[in-house]
Amino acid sequence: MNERNILIVRCGEVALKGMNKPYFEKMLVDRVRANLKKISPVGQNKPIDCYRQEGLIYVKADKDLDLKKIIKEVTKVFGVQSVSVAVEAEPNLDSIGAVAVQYMNELIEKDNVKTFKVLAKRADKNFPVKSPEIGRIVGAKVLIGCKVLKVDVHEPDVLLHVDLRHDVAYIYDGKVNGLGGLPVGTNGKGMTLLSGGIDSPVATWMMAKRGMMIEAVHFHSYPYTSERAKIKVEELASIVASYCGKFRMHVINLLPIQEAIVENCPEEETTILVRRFMMKIAEALAIETDCQALITGEDLGQVASQTSDALVVTDAAVTLPVFRPLIGMDKVEIMEKAQQIGTFEKSIEPYEDCCTVFLPKHPTTKPRLERILESESKLDCEALIKAAIEKEEIVEIRPEE
Ligand code: ATP
Ligand code: MG
Repeated sequence: MNERNILIVRCGEVALKGMNKPYFEKMLVDRVRANLKKISPVGQNKPIDCYRQEGLIYVKADKDLDLKKIIKEVTKVFGVQSVSVAVEAEPNLDSIGAVAVQYMNELIEKDNVKTFKVLAKRADKNFPVKSPEIGRIVGAKVLIGCKVLKVDVHEPDVLLHVDLRHDVAYIYDGKVNGLGGLPVGTNGKGMTLLSGGIDSPVATWMMAKRGMMIEAVHFHSYPYTSERAKIKVEELASIVASYCGKFRMHVINLLPIQEAIVENCPEEETTILVRRFMMKIAEALAIETDCQALITGEDLGQVASQTSDALVVTDAAVTLPVFRPLIGMDKVEIMEKAQQIGTFEKSIEPYEDCCTVFLPKHPTTKPRLERILESESKLDCEALIKAAIEKEEIVEIRPEE
């Protein structure tokens, strides 16, 4: 039928963005292209092409490329609402009818289809026949060409779409849903605090889904935490990158700061003090790298450091806004989400985390800011933060294959 597989890609919310629509669509095309690159070279006259025309995005790929893989990669791009595999016909009723018959005959053979309905629409309003009439004419042609089929307008086995554009018509049935959201890069950049746990990869994914570009920071307490624990976080980050594209991760050794806290401050305040240092370092890195916000996987009430009192004290450490997309979710919901995006199995691998080093026996759940500030005054915070950042290691996180 066609030499290439054709995917019609629908943008969800992107389509609602009024005057900004071309910008959002362009970003979406860029993201789809980037994700498809790992399958084959992308561009005009290349094995895969992706472009936008008349408010739709198309992916056209050589038939020898794995269509399932292509659909998987396209539906992983934030901003894609759904995808349909279409065939082309010339924009006249004879060609559309002939292609529709062939299309339905193939479905009858493959899926034992018995009933159908045609739903037509025309982007070309100059086309002399109106949409309902196109539907009726093509339907009649299919009935003649496929003797086993009957029309069922209420619950057809196949809803056959005919989409008539200016110089081509597309025919397809069904669609594969994408993730929705907005293309990464259309909503600024966030510095995510990425641990090896269940929550922060999900939080990162959720903000990237709303269009944020990602830069990450990970804290470790080497040699108390192992090299393997760090690799685990890189692997987790790589899963997130398979949705949002490559990003940088700043890796910071927190041990000198933790030791200074343990030596100089009340034991029950250790956790909250460490958290405030994490936020301050993340903020310094965020400013350096043009991020407008911090992102954490905190969730109200989950642990001692995430009571509302503790969150207020944590927030007071920084001036940048802190985005906490999981704040109102239950742990079970977060775990389901982690499973859905594919980070869960990696997150539960049992490696040490810097938060569990020097864990106080009874962490304070109602910290008071004045007290915490008093404890911090015993430390040379600025020097500690500067030293930690000076020794940072930067890792390029690439999408997992
Ligand atoms: P997670 O599952 O994301 O580790 P958690 O429930 O274990 O979260 P905490 O350990 O209190 O919660 O951490 C709260 C948030 O602080 C995390 O979601 C993450 O954003 C950040 N965070 C914690 N540990 C680290 C770390 N080692 N490196 C970077 N960020 C961290
Ligand atoms: Mg954690």
